[in-house]
Amino acid sequence: MNILVLNCGSSSIKYQLFNMKDQSILAKGLVNRVGMANACIDHISGRGPKIQIITDVIDHHDGIKKVFDLLVSKDHGVIGSLDEINAVGHRVVHAGEKFAGSVLLTDDVLEALRECIIFAPLHNPPNLRGIEAVSEYLPKVKQAGVFDTAFHQTMPIKAFLYALPKVFYDKDRIRRYGFHGTSHRFVSKRAAILLKKPYETLKIISIHLGNGCSMAAIDCGKSVDTSMGHTPVEGLVMGTRVGDIDPAIVLHIMKKYELAIHEVDNLLNKHSGVLGISGESNDLRDLEEGWPNRSPKANLALEVYSYRIRKYIGAYMAVMNGCDAIVFTAGVGENSSIVRDLVCQNLDFLGIRIDTSLNKKTVRGAEGDISTSDARVRTLVIPTNEELVIAEDTLELIEGRLDPKTGKPAK
Ligand code: AMP
Repeated sequence: MNILVLNCGSSSIKYQLFNMKDQSILAKGLVNRVGMANACIDHISGRGPKIQIITDVIDHHDGIKKVFDLLVSKDHGVIGSLDEINAVGHRVVHAGEKFAGSVLLTDDVLEALRECIIFAPLHNPPNLRGIEAVSEYLPKVKQAGVFDTAFHQTMPIKAFLYALPKVFYDKDRIRRYGFHGTSHRFVSKRAAILLKKPYETLKIISIHLGNGCSMAAIDCGKSVDTSMGHTPVEGLVMGTRVGDIDPAIVLHIMKKYELAIHEVDNLLNKHSGVLGISGESNDLRDLEEGWPNRSPKANLALEVYSYRIRKYIGAYMAVMNGCDAIVFTAGVGENSSIVRDLVCQNLDFLGIRIDTSLNKKTVRGAEGDISTSDARVRTLVIPTNEELVIAEDTLELIEGRLDPKTGKPAK
């Protein structure tokens, strides 16, 4: 059983073909700069070396056709024909309040996802283009949608409602949705396995620190709060996104500098975060180089970044009346011992205590417990694997173990 996982971004297509018998990756790659000059495909088949193919990629349809061609090609292919792709799972960013689980894609589901374009104008359209392209090339193959927002649909209204006049929720569905749900779900479930305790009994704080950053409070297997909100701009300080901010600042800046809506949008999404504070880089690797001697601005960016995470840890402990484990994941969470150290220092009163040498020794790609043996709260580092979750959900949907319309366990 082979399952293709697709993650179509505005100008990229990430793909992984899984053999679900042993969850091995037959091939994976990235189509870069879709619709732009200098497009190329980075492709790895099996354990082979990465190859780069320079080729025009006019749009997502064209990009997906080229991925299919590569998967069956004589030189770099891994399957004999496209018939060997049994199903396709798609990452879809926003499913609004419609879906609390992964579902099989039908015309009705696609219509519901189109209605969510207003919430994710940059993400849902390319996600939908990928689905349409697969329908065209593989019309008989079942496709599943796995949604970033779905895991957080268990949040209670007190956690997701903004204190705006309620008509904005009732009429426009303006509320906190949360993102990175697939990653929070994966690492929190792995945490339960590592702790050898039932998932449904644990209180977990999951900290996803990648290009985008978010945290989730997961109480007995359910997301009860998360730091991203109506859009992925809210919450933690990110590489280039501002995170929590007094909304009146936006009005003030717009007025003072006579900024248009798209300019403020750019400012909050692309020029803020650690890039905005440091003026040097959005990449934590750069800012950490030579820490703490790189530059005062780089140090300040790291301190503000880590301080915000600490505040959310405190908040989520209050939300859940305690916590059994905190989990660091994604590019920064998995790799940066400096950030983990800054976040976890002096939190003994909450039961969080990390072993400095274990923290430094944690190697990339490995799962680990970096807490001291006497810590009440375990601090774990767990590599995320959103592609595997998408492949597993797709398999469970086509095999009928998940309800195809709700994603809940089938009766
Ligand atoms: P992701 O979105 O999970 O791919 O994470 C990408 C981010 O991880 C990059 O922007 C980097 O800032 C960060 N990152 C990757 N490797 C490291 C590292 N070794 N140390 C610190 N940050 C890293």
